Amino acid sequence: MKILAVNCGSSSLKFQMYEMPEEKVLISGVFERIGIDNSFYSYKLNGEKIKKQAYLKDHKEAVKILLDELISNKIVESLSEIKGIGHRVVQGADKFDKSVLITDDVIKTIDELSALAPLHNPAAIVGINAFMKAVKDAKHVAVFDTAFHQTMAKEAYIYALPYYLYKDYGIRKYGAHGTSHKYITKVMHDYYKENKKLIICHLGSGGSITAVKDGRVVDTSMGFTPNAGIVMGTRCGDIDASIIPYIMDKLNMNTNDIDKLINKESGLKGITGGITDSRDIETGIEANDEMCDLAQKIFVRSVVNYIAKYYVLLSGADAICFTAGIGENSSLTREQIMDNLKVLGVSLDKEANKARGTFTKISSNSSKIDCFLVPTDEEVMIALDTYNLVK
Ligand code: ADP
Repeated sequence: MKILAVNCGSSSLKFQMYEMPEEKVLISGVFERIGIDNSFYSYKLNGEKIKKQAYLKDHKEAVKILLDELISNKIVESLSEIKGIGHRVVQGADKFDKSVLITDDVIKTIDELSALAPLHNPAAIVGINAFMKAVKDAKHVAVFDTAFHQTMAKEAYIYALPYYLYKDYGIRKYGAHGTSHKYITKVMHDYYKENKKLIICHLGSGGSITAVKDGRVVDTSMGFTPNAGIVMGTRCGDIDASIIPYIMDKLNMNTNDIDKLINKESGLKGITGGITDSRDIETGIEANDEMCDLAQKIFVRSVVNYIAKYYVLLSGADAICFTAGIGENSSLTREQIMDNLKVLGVSLDKEANKARGTFTKISSNSSKIDCFLVPTDEEVMIALDTYNLVK
């Protein structure tokens, strides 16, 4: 069965077409700079990458070109072969605890939740509408980044703010990266053949740590928005909330200014004065750059703090998993994090930790907690949820 996984951003559209249930990727690609000058798209087919310039006026135009490419590359003979299209939606809040078939009511609810994800939910709706019009025979499924975290207990998601802010304004922890955390949970279940107590570290340019027990989320580090939790490429993570009114006052900032400062100018970038990518941080450390060294230490500490917290919350952990850009590729960061966990009986297999991008056990046989590098795959999770709802 042919299933398409789609991820629409405000000016981009990523896609992957699968043959399910084999999980075989038939074609994947991305449309970029939609609605902006110099738009283009690229796709990977049979190991070859093809890039084309195209005037992408809007998402509808990108969808049209994508569907034409599927036919001309003989991925499908007719669009009716596409049985399901899974759409990534960032914010489902407490309205969705799992993926759902898209109806008018579902679209309305996603729209109502746009206030909580102003950059992301409107883009998802544009994509959903464009695909629903163009591929009428397919079933359309919404896969929410927040859904997996809906199992948290109230004491995990309520902030110690006046309670009416939760009741009247929905201020609570929702978490993010749920599709990735769910995928890693599934991979680890396949590995152990049973549910284990997991601490999953999704470390990319955005990052979050999740505690999982019995296949369900107990707690996660991101909060009301993806700004909370660990230090990230450009986001500050957890800070003393009183800093915000203080600097707004001192620097005469409005809400947009402060939002930009904590989301786009902070984290690794803020500390180093411009370096966002952890590869560049590592190059800086090699060149004895003091600020890169400091940024890395603060980053590692923020991750270790969450692991320690979740170790206690779970009454011990069976496995710690590292995933996403940094988690899958940075041997240095994994080593530094694991070195800080020696007190918990964590012990690194230095040779195994040289691995990049492939499922690898990186703890030694004597380690009290198994540690793994687990490549994430949010697209296949979207395709799986879609397939399960469509079949
Ligand atoms: P996102 O999806 O949040 O944009 P990714 O999961 O793709 O992020 O991770 C991107 C980040 O991964 C990059 O910013 C970079 O810091 C890090 N990264 C990628 N490759 C490496 C590497 N070889 N060594 C260290 N860090 C890496």
